Amino acid sequence: MQQVAAALSVDDVSVSYNGMAVLEKISFAAAPGQLTGIIGPNGAGKSTLLKAIMGLVNVDCGSVRILGLAVDKVRPKIAYLPQKNTFDTDFPISVEGVVMTGRYPHLGWCALPGEKDRRIVEECLHKVSMLQLRKRQIGQLSGGEQQRVLLARALAQEAELFFLDEPFAGIDLVSESVIMGILKELRSEGKTIFAVHHDLSKTEGYFDTLILMNKRIIAFGKTKEVFRARYLQETYQGSIAVINGYNELMVVNA
Ligand code: ADP
Repeated sequence: MQQVAAALSVDDVSVSYNGMAVLEKISFAAAPGQLTGIIGPNGAGKSTLLKAIMGLVNVDCGSVRILGLAVDKVRPKIAYLPQKNTFDTDFPISVEGVVMTGRYPHLGWCALPGEKDRRIVEECLHKVSMLQLRKRQIGQLSGGEQQRVLLARALAQEAELFFLDEPFAGIDLVSESVIMGILKELRSEGKTIFAVHHDLSKTEGYFDTLILMNKRIIAFGKTKEVFRARYLQETYQGSIAVINGYNELMVVNA
């Protein structure tokens, strides 16, 4: 049987900040066309894992390969949506200007965006239902609308892999549903998506695969196999109550 090449492989990655271990020997490999949720309590190292994959923090040891190559060789193929509060919404740039920055990896050095770039920006804004607000300054949008614009920027990049850090944190339900619909569409096109996620009640409906982590990987696999009380309790170190099955999972003191 032909082996499918991993879209992402993380091998024995450890990260520390000022001598404090934050990630310990993280290893997993993900096939293309998967929507993977990264689950764990605050401080578990989820954002750091995304940054380590993106090459944005130094790793103590281990390696990351994306589409079989080092990250620097495939950077235009990777889209990253950092946490919402890391984006400077006071910056004087319009909605369509933000989305156009997604085209920059495709433009030549000093080249100006052309007709094709403008068409792609328009299509991506349409996909996230934000075309009508294209001229607005980015700071004059709700949190959910801003998140949709950042997703449109990632779409404009025409990436193969998408890494989203808490895309649904503090946003309205309409934006969440628009974003989730697009992530599922990307998956059906064979793209590979990772999202740090907090709402355990929606985890099963959203993700094919889960990484449960707390500094190290507690469980990694198909959602139906790893979304289990014993793994969740180990991940949240007892700070979780399972009431009437998973629809009423409660994270306590996470
Ligand atoms: P999570 O995303 O799961 O909440 P993070 O990856 O943000 O976890 O953080 C993991 C740990 O590393 C936390 O204890 C956090 O305080 C610490 N940390 C995160 N970023 C830095 C940094 N730049 N310098 C020092 N410590 C950091």
